[in-house]
Amino acid sequence: MINVENNPSFDRHERVVPVGEEALGYAGFVALHSTLLGPAAGGCRIWSYESADAALSDVLRLSRGMTYKNTMAELPLGGGKAVLYKMGADREACFQHFGGEIDKLHGAYITAEDVGASVADMRAIAERTAYVAGLPKEEGQAGGDPSPWTALGVFGAIEALLDGSVQGRTIAVQGVGAVGSHLCKLLAEGGAKLVIADVNHNNLARVEPLGAEVAPVAQIHAVTADVFAPCALGACLNARTIPELGARIICGAANNQLETEEDGARLAARGVTYAPDYVVNAGGIISVSAEYLGESAAAVEARVRGIAKRATELIAQAKRDRVLPHQAADRIVRERLAAAKKH
Ligand code: NAD
Repeated sequence: MINVENNPSFDRHERVVPVGEEALGYAGFVALHSTLLGPAAGGCRIWSYESADAALSDVLRLSRGMTYKNTMAELPLGGGKAVLYKMGADREACFQHFGGEIDKLHGAYITAEDVGASVADMRAIAERTAYVAGLPKEEGQAGGDPSPWTALGVFGAIEALLDGSVQGRTIAVQGVGAVGSHLCKLLAEGGAKLVIADVNHNNLARVEPLGAEVAPVAQIHAVTADVFAPCALGACLNARTIPELGARIICGAANNQLETEEDGARLAARGVTYAPDYVVNAGGIISVSAEYLGESAAAVEARVRGIAKRATELIAQAKRDRVLPHQAADRIVRERLAAAKKH
């Protein structure tokens, strides 16, 4: 029996809904952390976990993270997320069914792509509900795969943290999937040297022609570089990896990069500047939000390009206030949420 409220990652989430269909062989959760500022928006992750409880912990953490990300990006959205931890053989039928489950929430949750999900999956969902983004778009309109926008936001933040240019700088990229590969392209165009690692050899092969050097998966965080860009999964900054870090700046797309709260202090003690994940990786949700609201691609680009300024100002503010950047970010979000509650 799954117990939501006793899960250590439970943070007064508004609702957690188990989804799935035994006959189709898929199962998962939708977590609505907050709808205070608008419908709970956040992607759908397809991943295998040790247990349903582990999947629940992930969806609770990720949905809370979306509240923080959407609030920080000043979007009219709350925070939510879906995790599908079992996927049936007939993938299209599973996503159609999942679309029906989302529809039953009457717009309280809006989904889109996350790790393991594709535009085709979103299309299948869209057959049963309108509460989905990340669909192919009309010329000039916002929409489509959010990952290039996420990459653009991270790229802008890296550039800004390197005083405006990546030319001749070395960037170690962990994970070259949807976001990581786009990020590598932007970095290569900007004249950066790339060191990459991925557990998926096909994904590595797609990025290697950019002139990237491949490092072992277990060593990428330790590569001597100007920036380490985590673009795989969470908890990559922890008691084991932080003492070995080869870069003085961390700026990447992965969600929940700090394994624990103490890891922020560990980074600071080593003199490492950490650009908070949810501040720099908001490009995708900015696109999703604009698609849902029927805005233009130009509006998305302007907002995504604003991420660099937000990240550098936040880091400067944190220094002035003698707090860690992720603490400064959390504080801004909590203040905005508290102000919204009062109205
Ligand atoms: P993806 O699945 O396309 O790419 C992830 C890549 O990481 C894959 O190539 C995978 O093989 C690789 N990987 C997995 N474990 C690894 C390991 N231990 N070492 C090295 N590589 C490993 O996912 P994505 O959409 O590119 O997202 C990447 C990260 O960015 C995730 O944490 C995701 O939550 C976050 N994110 C994505 C978006 C988006 O727009 N897609 C937006 C915000 C945040």
